[in-house]
Amino acid sequence: MKVGIPKEIKNNENRVGMTPAGVAELTRRGHEVSVQHTAGEGSGFSDDDYVKAGARILPSIEAVYRECDMIVKVKEPIEPEYELVREGQLLFTYFHFACEKELTEAMLKSKAVCLAYETVQLPNGSLPLLQPMSEVAGRMATLNGAYYLQKTKGGKGKLISGVPGVSPAKVLVLGGGVVGEAAALMAAGLGADVTIADISLPRLRQLDIETPANVHTLYSSEHNIRQMLPTVDIVIGSVLVPGDKTPHLITREMLKLMEPGTVLVDVAIDQGGCFETSRPTTHSEPVYTEEGIVHYCVANIPGAVPNTSTLALTNATLRYAIALADKGWQQACKDDPALAKGLNIVEGKVTYKAVADVFGLPY
Ligand code: NAD
Repeated sequence: MKVGIPKEIKNNENRVGMTPAGVAELTRRGHEVSVQHTAGEGSGFSDDDYVKAGARILPSIEAVYRECDMIVKVKEPIEPEYELVREGQLLFTYFHFACEKELTEAMLKSKAVCLAYETVQLPNGSLPLLQPMSEVAGRMATLNGAYYLQKTKGGKGKLISGVPGVSPAKVLVLGGGVVGEAAALMAAGLGADVTIADISLPRLRQLDIETPANVHTLYSSEHNIRQMLPTVDIVIGSVLVPGDKTPHLITREMLKLMEPGTVLVDVAIDQGGCFETSRPTTHSEPVYTEEGIVHYCVANIPGAVPNTSTLALTNATLRYAIALADKGWQQACKDDPALAKGLNIVEGKVTYKAVADVFGLPY
């Protein structure tokens, strides 16, 4: 198959759809891979790295869309790309259709096949192509929490690890899923005193067994959270209620329970946020202070570490990209129900119920 890797054009997006190692796997199987000039630059991969992996370099995004049957990307196409997408072309990328009516309409009109990373789902309910970005975001959440705890950054002026003779910082993680576990492990590794709160007892049991001794578990109730707040230095919000609004576990009134300079990191901001006072921020202006409490609410945390994020993403997407290139999307989806769940739009029709429901479209 002719596989194309365009350069991402969304503002500040430095990731790329596939690493040279991924490209080498495809070319080894006889597929023709075309990479847009400088597509990998932001992630630390040169055109030469791709050429060595067997790719050819195309000069423009137009050429990649024109000449390739399957496009592997990171972010959803944005307006300038809409007219480049061709009928029958397979697009394998993050789409998040339910949040974007204009994108949904454009992809329906294009009659392309849109296979969305975020809805590929294994039989146990897990989302293997979202997981790597959650792992990155969780680890980064702790690092950013520790950074903004510095006095010069608006924080309390505490070192997360403490030093011999001085206690480490206290970190409360709300939501012990993929992001929460990654955040807690990073904080524990730095020596912090960590508590993970969740409403799922099976999940708390699992975390209790799997995490080191400086990670404690707590049932997530308003009472328990209120009791913790006066003692904590960093709170990481990583709650997700699938298909529903993220609950506000810390209200504006509850901010008064915390010491000034406490840092809140709201990773769940992309789903509305789990603190009442959260609003989305960007990497260029990541924090603001409300009621003396520092808020870090960047909606695309993995974008800050594009090299690691691109490598982690390709690790997860490659086996599916290979199946799609080897067999074509129809056969690959027939053989793998997890991959078939990624089909959101197929040649002018919505094929994912949640997307159809949001926009009242036929399904
Ligand atoms: P997940 O489904 O693995 O985990 C969510 C956890 O929240 C579950 O364990 C669930 O039991 C728990 N939960 C639900 N209600 C709760 C409550 N009231 N109190 C405590 N825990 C509760 O999800 P995830 O992959 O860890 O993602 C978490 C959030 O992070 C999502 O909103 C996701 O979109 C977001 N995210 C953001 C970024 C970013 O860059 N900002 C990157 C990746 C993920």
